Amino acid sequence: MVTSSADAYSVPFASCVVCGDPATPPATEESVADASLPTVLPSRLPTPDLCDKHWADYRTDWLLLGWCVDHYGQALTECPVHHREIEPL
Ligand SMILES: [Zn+2]
Ligand SMILES: [Zn+2]
Repeated sequence: MVTSSADAYSVPFASCVVCGDPATPPATEESVADASLPTVLPSRLPTPDLCDKHWADYRTDWLLLGWCVDHYGQALTECPVHHREIEPL
């Protein structure tokens, strides 16, 4: 098996649901996460995978997330997988 430098960590990185960059777990700011994370996400949905930039956008309401069939996406854009408009949360 060929191991590239991108596989330095065994844990696969999630991709940002908006731009596809490596996602950043929100738990890195554990002490402030509870206060800074918006409460609009229904608890039954998983935490969205977002990169640093889009977490910042999301927290400042510049980014509207939506839910497609089984994944997050940018609301009111067309899902490239399912070819339907992503519904806002
Ligand atoms: Zn992003
Ligand atoms: Zn979709």
